[in-house]
Amino acid sequence: MSCVQEVLIIKYGEIALRGKNRHIYENMLLDSIRKNLAQAQCGDFYVRKEQGRFVVEWNGEVEFARIMPHITCIFGITSACIGIKLADQSMEAIQAAALAYARQHCPTPATFKVDTRRANKQYPLRSDEISAQVGGFLLDNMEGLKVNLSAPDFTLKIEIRSFAYIYSPKSEVKGPGGLPPGSAGKGVLLLSGGIDSPVAGYLAAKRGIDLVAAYFHSPPYTSERAKEKVIDLARRLSHFTGKIRLIVIPFTDIQLKLVERTPPEKITILLKRAMLRISGQIAQQEKALALITGDSVGQVASQTLHSLYAMTGATEMPIIRPLACFDKHEIVTIAQNIDTFPISIRPYDDCCTLFLPKHPETKPKLSIIQSVEGNVDNLGELIEQAIADAEVIEF
Ligand code: ATP
Ligand code: MG
Repeated sequence: MSCVQEVLIIKYGEIALRGKNRHIYENMLLDSIRKNLAQAQCGDFYVRKEQGRFVVEWNGEVEFARIMPHITCIFGITSACIGIKLADQSMEAIQAAALAYARQHCPTPATFKVDTRRANKQYPLRSDEISAQVGGFLLDNMEGLKVNLSAPDFTLKIEIRSFAYIYSPKSEVKGPGGLPPGSAGKGVLLLSGGIDSPVAGYLAAKRGIDLVAAYFHSPPYTSERAKEKVIDLARRLSHFTGKIRLIVIPFTDIQLKLVERTPPEKITILLKRAMLRISGQIAQQEKALALITGDSVGQVASQTLHSLYAMTGATEMPIIRPLACFDKHEIVTIAQNIDTFPISIRPYDDCCTLFLPKHPETKPKLSIIQSVEGNVDNLGELIEQAIADAEVIEF
């Protein structure tokens, strides 16, 4: 094997700060990297853990362009780039490799700088000495280069770790950041077919929450197409989160009962309370620690602060609302970036838009909502039945 080898250098952010638990987070990230590479059939690879980095090397040819998206979608990763690894860390070897790399990647004339990070403190030269010696060597051996330390056209990065690595920040591809998949524990995402809840799920998963999705389906008032839309959204989310279980809860009987027994202007809140109550029970079954919804303060009548307050007590589970303070256009931008938007705008309604009152209450009173809900006979039994009849779909 040659002593200069092309590798993939992966950087991660926040988990580098996690003190004594750091290795647990690093191992979770390592598992996700290995899993994604194996799933994408990325050949015979080996992932090396360096301090604050993962370095992937291959036995044989590699198609980096094909591999990159499978890495840069993993939560916890801040960037990935192609670089070279040197087994020989002598100054002569580093200078020669740096020159070959610069000739290949730095179009001249150009200003440049060499930026070194020496993680291996045993190395006999300091970072600034390495930068100066390699920079001087490049100036002597390559036409058209000029040093500019503050705003260079081209930066050559050198990292001295258990091996030496050379790369350019120009070739870095950004990752999503966040925390490794599943590192925060499990949450139940109330996933409708709309624009908001998939984005809420994405953001929750980005903080390391493992998702179980719950969808409330009201056939024949909501069509099979509406359900397919939710299935496609869950599948799309699984691209970021790994495996997802989607629980489809039959909601028709509950919905009809509530419509029949309660004033129309209160129906949306009561439906939402029923969804939260059921999701809370599912969360307990699934050993999840929170519910996640796509509510955004003030977006519609059921999402005013008064309405959100009127959902108090429907469940004891904490409710995470990642989009609470996002504007619609900010939500749409994320939905477009994560490719859930085209699925969400397919024209099939979810169950909340059916039986929608002309004038939904924007300032419901919790005590009145609770008393109206308390007068609906058999609600508890209908809820137990819906949970028992739920269908589970796994990706
Ligand atoms: P979305 O775009 O996510 O559908 P929305 O703007 O349509 O949200 P609502 O219908 O008030 O707003 O729903 C608010 C939240 O309640 C949703 O983001 C979702 O988390 C949950 N929700 C609503 N309907 C359903 C459903 N049929 N199944 C599962 N969750 C639902
Ligand atoms: Mg909706």
